[in-house]
Amino acid sequence: MRKNIVAGNWKMNNDLAQTQELIADLKKQMSGEPKATVMVAPTYTNLYPAFEALKNTPIIVAAQNMHQNAKGAFTGEISAAMLKSVGVETVILGHSERRAYFKESNELLAEKVNTALENDMTVIFCFGEELEDRKADKHFDLVESQLKESLYHLSKESWKNIILAYEPVWAIGTGETASPEQAQEMHAFIRKSVAGAYGSEIAEDVSILYGGSCKPGNAKEIFANKDVDGGLIGGASLKAEDFLAIVNSF
Ligand code: PEP
Repeated sequence: MRKNIVAGNWKMNNDLAQTQELIADLKKQMSGEPKATVMVAPTYTNLYPAFEALKNTPIIVAAQNMHQNAKGAFTGEISAAMLKSVGVETVILGHSERRAYFKESNELLAEKVNTALENDMTVIFCFGEELEDRKADKHFDLVESQLKESLYHLSKESWKNIILAYEPVWAIGTGETASPEQAQEMHAFIRKSVAGAYGSEIAEDVSILYGGSCKPGNAKEIFANKDVDGGLIGGASLKAEDFLAIVNSF
């Protein structure tokens, strides 16, 4: 069954004390059952304290990245097993900042996805076009090739652990948001593409999140679309009040 999900990507923000404060605010301000599955992705150093602090809450802790290999001489990297050993079972892969600054390709991301799934983790797989792609009317092709090259080798069974996050790069951290119509148009295209590759049951079951300057003021309108199942939230996830307002926009 398709789930509504709101995930906060805290990126390289917040030291330990600030992370603890943000978590305390989330716990204090969360009243009753949230209207969506809630996830937060702190930096590596704050994953374990976040996991401990959120243990008896509905909030799931996710990592922002991981390495494709199991272990070895990969200075500065973190493996799936290391994440799991501190309670983390969900990982964001393919964020546009990883693709742009760390040159992560579709092929490399296919390897990372495989490793995460082999370790029984859930993947939030991010993808989306640059502004030039959209201007050149290549955005649908680009998005489909990102899906094909990183995900369409997977078995049908694997899709129960995949969450898709469509994030048009021109909308990330820019204050510019895809219109609800643009989001719905692309999400419907993505669902159709998944249906073409895997059949309508898997396509109907996969959650497709929108990411890109989503905030309390626009979340309701974006989430109201039938193929938008929630959001991956950057900037607005750093304030408990704003993040929870987005969570409760369903
Ligand atoms: C993101 O980084 O995934 C994101 C959507 O950022 P923002 O909400 O700040 O645009």
